Amino acid sequence: MTDALVVGAGCSGLAAALSLRRAGVRVRVLEARDRVGGRVLTRWLADGTQLDLGAQWIGPTQHLVNALVDRYGLATFPSAAYGASVVVWEGARRRTEPPGAARVLDLLDTYAARLDPAAPWTAPEAARWDRTTLGDWLAATAPDPVTARYLGRLLAGGLLAVSPDQVSLLALASYLASGGGTSSLLPTTGGAQQDRIVGGPAALAEAMAAALGPEVVRWGAPVVAIEHDEAGVVAHTDVGRFEAAAVVVAVPPALAGRIRYAPALPALRDGLTQRMPMGSAWKTHAVYPEPFWRADGLSGVASCAEGPVTETVDSGTPTSSRGVLTAFSYGAQANALRRMSGPARRDALLDALATVVGPAARQPDEVIEYDWSADPWTRGCFCGVLTPGSLSEYGPYLRAPVGRIHWAGTETATRWAGYLDGAVQAGERAAAELLAGL
Ligand SMILES: Cc1cc2nc3c(=O)[nH]c(=O)nc-3n(C[C@H](O)[C@H](O)[C@H](O)COP(=O)(O)OP(=O)(O)OC[C@H]3O[C@@H](n4cnc5c(N)ncnc54)[C@H](O)[C@@H]3O)c2cc1C
Repeated sequence: MTDALVVGAGCSGLAAALSLRRAGVRVRVLEARDRVGGRVLTRWLADGTQLDLGAQWIGPTQHLVNALVDRYGLATFPSAAYGASVVVWEGARRRTEPPGAARVLDLLDTYAARLDPAAPWTAPEAARWDRTTLGDWLAATAPDPVTARYLGRLLAGGLLAVSPDQVSLLALASYLASGGGTSSLLPTTGGAQQDRIVGGPAALAEAMAAALGPEVVRWGAPVVAIEHDEAGVVAHTDVGRFEAAAVVVAVPPALAGRIRYAPALPALRDGLTQRMPMGSAWKTHAVYPEPFWRADGLSGVASCAEGPVTETVDSGTPTSSRGVLTAFSYGAQANALRRMSGPARRDALLDALATVVGPAARQPDEVIEYDWSADPWTRGCFCGVLTPGSLSEYGPYLRAPVGRIHWAGTETATRWAGYLDGAVQAGERAAAELLAGL
């Protein structure tokens, strides 16, 4: 029998396992897939161009993930930022946001500052803000419908990959609080999109797994059931049963809710997992012979208040001459793309890119997409998002252990929740809890 089990070899599960190993605990990680990293996945074009299909960036205030990058001797490079960014609204490509957007963002930051990201449900306004969807709040607060639509797509979409009517004002403000506010979350330079890892975040996950040593991660071992009592836990997988004194479940809450527990979990913990679906994003890389938009003084970075794509970025790397434009669609727009045939979706996406950087966008060498919602071991991205009304009611059950079961995963982080940094924080916190219990 090992001392501890970890379910899931994403960055959170790996961070938990490393913490447990450092404390001298014998640990076994049970991973459903045949690779580590979960929501990180890096692919390479034939010429060596790096494409990050899952997580892509790290930012300067994400201290835990930066410390791991340093510990494993990985290099970073700054995100491409060469020219002017554009904002598409009312059918035109512009250099400025719709009027009044900055004032609304400032107001949201003041709301976020009133919240404790570890317990947003304790704020006096929590119940009221949780009953209000971001969409309704923007409709009442933004100076006009264009600004409301722009901000709804930028915030609910760009941060959480949902539509503005699928997230409450409380959940959004809490997410802002956890990442340090809009000035920390939204920008490239100085913000969460500042840097990339050479080899992608997948290189980090692989380095973490290598540091655990051989035989620690058990591949192809989806956990289907966990028995638990005061003596210990037994995890049942497709490849056998594993016993331990305690377990860290490091998978998104929606997937944690699909595991069978005996005895059954308390009502409010199960209620939480029923109310935290994954976001819905569609991320596409269009690859060109060169980044032609830079010659026109464009950065390739755009925020769009209309159309199928909400954001675009230049995902080129310093070591490749290819141009890579990445398009993100969210919520209802992502689902609309998902319903299209492959050729129709390609046309819709390339038309949207042409609006941002010109007609040459319609002639890529390659288009590469990956549907995280179709992946049975993720089922959506970027992360789980509590539905309106649920954070104030069920939030306290996100992290609360159930006997010998501890909960990790980026969704449970109190800093940079939803991000790689939050995944690491959550894993280390769950490991510390488990150690205290042992
Ligand atoms: C398209 C996309 C873009 C993103 N962009 C960024 C970004 O730029 N910067 C950033 O910081 N973050 C970004 N994120 C979010 C980031 O990827 C996640 O926050 C982070 O990877 C979550 O790590 P985790 O360990 O909590 O969960 P996961 O990575 O989901 O790991 C969970 C693991 O558990 C496994 N698993 C699931 N169910 C079971 C089971 N029953 N039994 C055994 N194993 C199981 C899965 O296979 C997986 O390996 C992005 C995510 C996506 C998908």
